[in-house]
Amino acid sequence: ALADWQRGLREQFPIITTHPGLAYLDSAATAQKPRSVLQAVQAYLTTSNANAGRGTYPWANRTTELVERTRRRVKDFLGDPDPRRSAVHFTSGTTEGLRVIARDWLTSFLSDGDEILVPFADHRANLEPWLEAQRLLADRGTDVRVRALPYQAGSGDYDHRALARTVGPRTRFVAVTHLHHVYGGDMNVQRIRAAVGPDVPICLDAAQSVGHLPVSVAESALDVDFVVFSGHKALALPGTGAVWARNTRGPVLEPGGWQGTPNTVGIASLEAALDWLEAAGTERIARWTVALAARLTDGLRHLDSYEILGCQSSLAGDSGQPLQQRRHGIVTFRHRGIPSDDLGFILFSEGFMVRADSLCQAGADEKKDGSVRVSLHVYNTVDEIERLLAVLASLDRGLHGTENRFHL
Ligand code: PMP
Repeated sequence: ALADWQRGLREQFPIITTHPGLAYLDSAATAQKPRSVLQAVQAYLTTSNANAGRGTYPWANRTTELVERTRRRVKDFLGDPDPRRSAVHFTSGTTEGLRVIARDWLTSFLSDGDEILVPFADHRANLEPWLEAQRLLADRGTDVRVRALPYQAGSGDYDHRALARTVGPRTRFVAVTHLHHVYGGDMNVQRIRAAVGPDVPICLDAAQSVGHLPVSVAESALDVDFVVFSGHKALALPGTGAVWARNTRGPVLEPGGWQGTPNTVGIASLEAALDWLEAAGTERIARWTVALAARLTDGLRHLDSYEILGCQSSLAGDSGQPLQQRRHGIVTFRHRGIPSDDLGFILFSEGFMVRADSLCQAGADEKKDGSVRVSLHVYNTVDEIERLLAVLASLDRGLHGTENRFHL
């Protein structure tokens, strides 16, 4: 049943169906767009295109309504329990969203001696804005400290046992990633909430989770203050993203994205993308991509030449037992003998589009430079994974000298 459901959804992605020989495996960088999103863009541009918030004629009014409606749509999509209090700020992506919080919000929140807690091995986009906020504050004579939450090498997760050491009475703000963009692991923000207590604002970089799994800020779900995501990774157009702000801890972040002309076409695409995702069901999307990633991981484990990054299960929880970290649709691995650009090139020659470079990771994992990343979305298939594993297996044998069709 899940396979039939997926087939129906895959058919809705024109770029996928018109390229049957190619497998797009780079959705963590940006996702492909379903037909309904393309149609919403066309419809907006052919019926209502105007600037928002400044007209007295129908196109401008419809554009203003679109922007306000999409703000409500984002809140609703995230299960916002108090939409009158919260705000949605439109951005070009996660990077800009995190910068907005760092510059416009965090700098008016922190005082001398306060500490910002950030994980050591996240995407660079979730480190530099906080360092910039620190510099801006230092220019005004306010010294704040950025403390790195240590990362347990090889595990693909934070060192949760070190949390208690890193959190202190001056911890006033935490910026954490929801799903790691290299390891695909859920970074367990509830554990961080438990460590910092109820009053510290937490900013969630949800670039890899919104659109891939249910992300909810409802009462019983994620107790975070900001959810920052990239619309373009959630099936909307490039140059889209949003910040959701709960606005119950610290200063109020105003609804924004009005500076200059907003990306109204992008906002129209975001509204359609969220509608599409909700109709498809993010829970089922997660089940699909988790299953594909598990198949790939399983297959790779049987091939001696490959090492999967962040997969060591040595990580122990508070009880000393290994933590069960849920893995999502991202698998990063390296071939022990083939550099990543060569592997990326070989895979593309077989029709697979993967990411093969440094992956924008902030803290050092010494091995990531030699790695390729496969990242999945609902349009990917079991067949693509099986074909990919067959090619990877042929390179495995190649290394052992029995068959080397690529003359490496
Ligand atoms: N954070 C994470 C975890 C990401 O994976 C990415 C994109 N790779 C970003 C931030 C940056 O997103 P954007 O390019 O939309 O600014």
